[in-house]
Amino acid sequence: MFCQVIIDIVHENVASPFTYRIPDGMDLMPGQRVAVPFGRREKEGIVLSLSETCDLDENRVKDVLRPLEDYAAIPPELLILAEQMAQDSHCPLAETLRLMLPAQMRGGRVHVKTERTAQLAVSSEEAEAAAEKEKRSPKRASLLRILADGEIHPVKELAAAVKDPNEALKKLAADGLITLSDEETLRTPGSSFARPEDPGFTLTTGQEEALEEILPCLKGKGGRFLLHGVTGSGKTEVFMAAVRSVLALGKSAIILVPEIALTPQMVAWFRGRFGPVAAVIHSRLSPGERFDEWRRIRRGDARVVIGARSAVFSPARNLGLIVVDEEHETTYLSDHHPRYDAREVAIRRCERENATLILASATPSVLSFARARRGDYMLLEMPRRVQDRPLPEVEIVDMREELEQGNRTVLSYALRKALKDCAARGEQAMLLMNRRGYNSFVSCRTCGYVVKCPNCDVSMTYHVGSEDGLLRCHYCGNAVKPPVTCPECGGKYIRYFGAGTQKVEEEVQKLLPGVATARMDYDTTGGKDGHGKILEEFRSGRARILIGTQMIAKGLDFPRVTLVGVIAADMTLNLPDYRSRERTFQLLTQVAGRAGRGETPGRVIIQTYKPEDPVIGFAAAQDYRSFFEDEFTRRRRGLYPPFTLLARFLTESPREEQAVAAADQLEAEVRRLIEAHPAWGRKLLLISNDAPGVKVLRGKCRRHVLMKMLVGPEADAMIAEMTEMARRPFEGTDVWFEVNPTTMM
Ligand code: ADP
Ligand code: ZN
Repeated sequence: MFCQVIIDIVHENVASPFTYRIPDGMDLMPGQRVAVPFGRREKEGIVLSLSETCDLDENRVKDVLRPLEDYAAIPPELLILAEQMAQDSHCPLAETLRLMLPAQMRGGRVHVKTERTAQLAVSSEEAEAAAEKEKRSPKRASLLRILADGEIHPVKELAAAVKDPNEALKKLAADGLITLSDEETLRTPGSSFARPEDPGFTLTTGQEEALEEILPCLKGKGGRFLLHGVTGSGKTEVFMAAVRSVLALGKSAIILVPEIALTPQMVAWFRGRFGPVAAVIHSRLSPGERFDEWRRIRRGDARVVIGARSAVFSPARNLGLIVVDEEHETTYLSDHHPRYDAREVAIRRCERENATLILASATPSVLSFARARRGDYMLLEMPRRVQDRPLPEVEIVDMREELEQGNRTVLSYALRKALKDCAARGEQAMLLMNRRGYNSFVSCRTCGYVVKCPNCDVSMTYHVGSEDGLLRCHYCGNAVKPPVTCPECGGKYIRYFGAGTQKVEEEVQKLLPGVATARMDYDTTGGKDGHGKILEEFRSGRARILIGTQMIAKGLDFPRVTLVGVIAADMTLNLPDYRSRERTFQLLTQVAGRAGRGETPGRVIIQTYKPEDPVIGFAAAQDYRSFFEDEFTRRRRGLYPPFTLLARFLTESPREEQAVAAADQLEAEVRRLIEAHPAWGRKLLLISNDAPGVKVLRGKCRRHVLMKMLVGPEADAMIAEMTEMARRPFEGTDVWFEVNPTTMM
């Protein structure tokens, strides 16, 4: 027998499978990991397929050295998925296969803890009879009686009942009465399991109607749903009920959530609800714990997997359901190699494995909602909050008027008053400020010079800290002391402009002395469990006002929050990206939805310099439909995705002329390509070649060739060619090719 093996090396020359002979007596199956000779070294690989014969000169075919496990690390469904993904994104199979395995399985770093166990090898009657005959050794007799239940018993446990059982066990094994083996033991993170509990809610009409559609699909061949429910409509309860039903059917489920939602509370809550059949995969797990969770899933011991985007590749057995919660989040897109969209992967898996897909959000992505309208997904709507709690009242404050009235601070009069009232009532508030630091930029009053990062073409942000403040670059992390005089003109009037979360926190503390605040942004959430600690401080009520960047908008449920303030709603609206309107609507609606989730109704204040912008109005009214119609029309008119595809080559080099040369060469090649294929050219609507928003990043000059194409087979063909183009080496230049990139900077 022969097998085709993908070697675990990402390199063009080793992209296709290599054939090896399977030595007599070795049993292998597709998906199994093997050690094989490769060149002069030993390498790890994955068996793709088996064959009786081999086209090559058999004398030159080498033997597989050994299997690395006695099971297929990659089950057949995932093997197919990896192949499809490699084909679609034109990348080596070795690269997509890596997505399917925990990192510590590669490179022989697996450390499996084992435990000696004993189990009966004969029937319990025979064991009883043998125990009767064991007059000479009472030890062996007692061991046989314990083992007569047929269960697997750890030797450690037997030793508690029978002193020093090892010799006796060996004799029993030699007589063929029992078998001794080494069972893997698993590190279960936070292993004290609470017993599964059901909150026993009476479902709302909305929840019931949604489940009426979903449950029959779980039994059958699956279905695809977009669950659009306003914030606080109880979407979580819908998929919890679906998961319970999946488990009852003997199937398994994967629940994807944004990483930020995986706080220790959330993890405890999932475990509490599902007990040991739940595996939770999050970034705070140690590599060993992660590997063990993976094995519990692979063995079928864990049948509910909760995790961030990479959990979509979990080897869940007999998959019945994938839920993507907060499906509009950009965290579902991976921008490392290989790039993937966890939602698209989920669609694929569900289709192949006859599982049901639920995408859930209060603010679905334009793409998903458009698909639902077209009939690709069944749309389930939950327009009302649980217990008919009202949606929060939203007020828009025009910051231009505040300026006219002489208010130069970041907090409007209305927000100041609301914060005071909220604090006086002992309730909690959240303030969204989508920029970290204290001041957003530092500039010379005399000549207008703005301090920029020496490595990047962006202005630096002032941060207050334990020492004197520092200017920090938000792109590369570089930090410098702020200048005392202007480096350009020597002027003495250096001024600090714009505000960030630190400044907002300071103003709140000035306004409400003695009221505890917490700040959640990139700066305060570093380290192990940074998010969790801050959220716990707020949840427990120790902190009364939470100030943060968009991190605070994501699906958090704090019943005591009655006030939400948005400090600068336009900040995301002005970004040079076709998605900025969608992101702004989502951010505002989501953060507004954090208010009034408990008994007391909520209030929201949105501060803006552009109160007339329709996006602000739609968000204030929590009117998703109107937003969608408006945005969909705008995208159709402007020929933006989903009507078109955007693609770009990004070149980066320490030397500007090299970055430019690479971009020029790529542009020329694209032009030649469409000359050769006029039908493709008709679908390429635009091609431009210039510097992106950030011209220099981490000391490298950047250019991009931006293209817009009409969706269709011609675009797919062009993208395949372009992927190849970008793979070639360019002198001194890094080249990336991106399709619908997550950022245009
Ligand atoms: P969403 O994700 O739709 O914003 P959640 O699922 O977080 O909303 O639910 C909001 C709150 O309502 C949660 O505290 C949840 O425990 C509670 N809840 C959900 N369903 C019910 C129900 N049927 N009856 C009472 N409370 C419910
Ligand atoms: Zn920088």
